[in-house]
Amino acid sequence: MTDSTIFDKIINKEIPADVVYEDEHTLAFKDINPQAPFHVLVIPKQRIATINDVNEQNAHLIGNLYVVAAKLAKQHGFAEDGYRVVMNCNEHGGQTVYHIHLHMLAGQAMGWPPY
Ligand code: IMP
Repeated sequence: MTDSTIFDKIINKEIPADVVYEDEHTLAFKDINPQAPFHVLVIPKQRIATINDVNEQNAHLIGNLYVVAAKLAKQHGFAEDGYRVVMNCNEHGGQTVYHIHLHMLAGQAMGWPPY
């Protein structure tokens, strides 16, 4: 497991973030470098470094990320047109912050493939 990240500081309110959702287990905030009109990071408050660290014990925390993404999509009017959620893993996946996060990108049509 890698050291704590900047997301711990956001969770602990040590640095500011534009929070759009918070509950006991999950936090969602605007990405500082948005790649779409609506770009939010949905994270578990308990740090899981990468997808490789997901297991039977913490899987519910990952499920919560999708529950929150679905809520945000409905709340912000993206559910019908659609949106993208993506989680990057390690270097080839493009991961730069080693605290698992679901990117939620919305507000425009997305391209595919993503490279
Ligand atoms: P990754 O490349 O999938 O690990 O995504 C990390 C994301 O975190 C990038 O999209 C960054 O723009 C975003 N990010 C890094 N630091 C901050 C911050 O302090 N606030 C909000 N977003 C951040």
